[in-house]
Amino acid sequence: MSRTTILPGSLQAGQQATLGVMGGGQLGRMFVQAAQAMGYFTAVLDPDVTSPAGLISHYHVQTDYLDQAGLAQLTQRCAAITTEFENVPAGALQTLGAHRLVAPAADAVRIAQDRASEKAHFVGCGVACAPYAVIDSVQALAAVDAALLPGILKTARLGYDGKGQVRVATRADLQAAWDELKHVTCVLEKMLPLKAECSVIVARGRDGVMVNLPVQRNQHRDGILALTEVFDGVLPAALCEQAINATKAIAAQLQYVGVLCVEFFVLDDDTLVVNEMAPRPHNSGHYSLHACDQSQFDLQVRTLAGLPLTQPRQHSPAIMLNLLGDLWLTQGAEPVTPPWAAVLALPGTHLNLYGKLKPSKGRKMGHLTVTGATIDQVRHTAQQAASLLGLASS
Ligand code: ATP
Ligand code: MG
Repeated sequence: MSRTTILPGSLQAGQQATLGVMGGGQLGRMFVQAAQAMGYFTAVLDPDVTSPAGLISHYHVQTDYLDQAGLAQLTQRCAAITTEFENVPAGALQTLGAHRLVAPAADAVRIAQDRASEKAHFVGCGVACAPYAVIDSVQALAAVDAALLPGILKTARLGYDGKGQVRVATRADLQAAWDELKHVTCVLEKMLPLKAECSVIVARGRDGVMVNLPVQRNQHRDGILALTEVFDGVLPAALCEQAINATKAIAAQLQYVGVLCVEFFVLDDDTLVVNEMAPRPHNSGHYSLHACDQSQFDLQVRTLAGLPLTQPRQHSPAIMLNLLGDLWLTQGAEPVTPPWAAVLALPGTHLNLYGKLKPSKGRKMGHLTVTGATIDQVRHTAQQAASLLGLASS
């Protein structure tokens, strides 16, 4: 094992070994829960006093991501530091990385933060992505190939959950959309005929060992993940193998350390096209908390601490339903708690709420995972849960 292994429960300078995370959202919270279960202390840096991860962490540094004093505090507390959302400034990770183990490294996060550099990386790995053009000037806009229309104009940076995206059919739309996006650097992607969407999560250790979770089939509504299904036969086996191999190539080429998720499109003719990557655990991997012998957050802890990686095993078919703030807002402006007791009366339901105090439309408040002995049973229960909640289940 490498010199830099941080053993669970070990003491470092008279303190419990502490793992840190930049960002206090739900992904940080589930990382903290996994780290704590293994015996680590945890520290979270997030300016929000009520951040989901900050609320449950041993330490919560409440400063801005680039605040030097905050970064110094985190460095002082932690043996190693990870990140939970890709918009953490890469510069902050670089500062931390000068003193502590940081995984994933700032360089990998920097590439994932920018759709243009991300796509260039995919192309360099020999993995096909949607035809695209980078739009960073009036000239580039004028030179757009008509074959990219209809398309989607996406800001190169800081987009998530479909934010910072405009669908365009004509050149006039494109011009208007770029105006609307305030002329920031964008990527115009050709609109592709999607038969399905899927994602793959890999974990890669410092020694280059890589393991993966099974291929996840995803359904989005209004640009936000709504549902993830994971079981044998969810997509053709050859396609799954291709997606896993592509994800591993993308991680290996980056010399990546940590958990990486790559999202794919499956086209009408069964061609696989890469969409984007997230340098962290991903919403589509939440089912692994209850359907696999190691969750994506366990894998994140292991890669950060330099612990061995073993191939995770899915022990139950699973369907995950995202629980957005809309569910609380069905009866006017005052939030109403959804009927959890009825949902939890169904067999194999696992509720995970993130401790967010204020539901709003489209805000990710939690998720529900359904597990069961058979695929049919999981589908049936997911349908019942969805109908109790007023959600679509397929
Ligand atoms: P997130 O970070 O939540 O995954 P995002 O804001 O980064 O979302 P994308 O993944 O780029 O957004 O796109 C959101 C969804 O929009 C995709 O999952 C897909 O359903 C649809 N979409 C995006 N690009 C295309 C495309 N080129 N052709 C067809 N559909 C697309
Ligand atoms: Mg996406």
